[in-house]
Amino acid sequence: MQDKTGHISKFIAICFLFLLLSGKVLIAEKPYAIVIHGGAGNIARESLSPEQIEEYNMKLAEALNAAEIILKAGGTSLDAVEAATRILEDSPLFNAGKGAVFNIDGKNELDASIMCGETHNAGAVAGVTTVKNPISAARKVMENSPHVLLTGKGAETFAYEQGIEIVDPGYFFDQRRWNQYREFIRNQVNRSRSYLDEDVKMGTVGAVALDVHGNIAAATSTGGMVGKRYGRIGDSPIIGAGNYASNLSCGVSATGHGEYFIRNIVAYDIAARMLYKEQSLQDAAFHVIREKLVEQGANGGIIAIDKDANVVMEFNTTAMFRGFVKSTGEKGVWIFEE
Ligand code: ASP
Repeated sequence: MQDKTGHISKFIAICFLFLLLSGKVLIAEKPYAIVIHGGAGNIARESLSPEQIEEYNMKLAEALNAAEIILKAGGTSLDAVEAATRILEDSPLFNAGKGAVFNIDGKNELDASIMCGETHNAGAVAGVTTVKNPISAARKVMENSPHVLLTGKGAETFAYEQGIEIVDPGYFFDQRRWNQYREFIRNQVNRSRSYLDEDVKMGTVGAVALDVHGNIAAATSTGGMVGKRYGRIGDSPIIGAGNYASNLSCGVSATGHGEYFIRNIVAYDIAARMLYKEQSLQDAAFHVIREKLVEQGANGGIIAIDKDANVVMEFNTTAMFRGFVKSTGEKGVWIFEE
């Protein structure tokens, strides 16, 4: 009898060792997480119909799902954030890729960046008008060039050479955005509203992920701000301002009034607070978004993940399109403040 039990335990031990060596047990135990946003803004609940809310929620869930499939299979956080961001870029619901806002000249100029928390490599493109998925061009800059940020024609030529899909600028057109632009111009003429109207929701997109290998990545993509001057570049393609990732601290993707996010180096400020002040991700994000930016009258928010898979979604507006999924099974998508 004892002999039989001994054989069984030996068999179980061998099976466990086999699984351990094949990496299966290790991978199953390591957490993964993905958090995304589709922009922040001061949006009245009544301004969105139940159908519109459903549409936003479904698109956020689709992006989360695509990223989770990658993370669950042991894929990289870089692949996960790129996949989620591409889905949001392709949707006219958000101000990135198709459906981007118009600048003062009635054109779409797109910015995006991506960063790898393991290597601290980063890539970005800014002011591009023909790149279908700017986030994929940013990744090519990171992986296949010695540079971090390429702008305008130079970025477009590089993207083309790298096999990134190039489209006619008309591809980005969305009637709703055009109406918003026309209204912006009318208000400018009447001088009835300021350059950045507080009620205009922003709609930049972003994703931050932690993979089962313990690596963090962050991605941010945007059309910028409606009515921006030709050539204006916001915080989204600026590493440390609108996007940052480090396995030593956290990954952050931001949305909001870019000039403030650049001046306050928002994404890196959150990471630096964790690193040098030993603040938790939640405390660091709260301070920067809810105190520092609020004191300056700046609108916006961030999503972030630290190396322990803590997820933070902090914003100082009434809404931020957002959602997350964790390997623990916790998940959800939200628009308004809870
Ligand atoms: N941060 C973006 C910019 O200033 C805008 C946004 O997040 O909606 O370009």
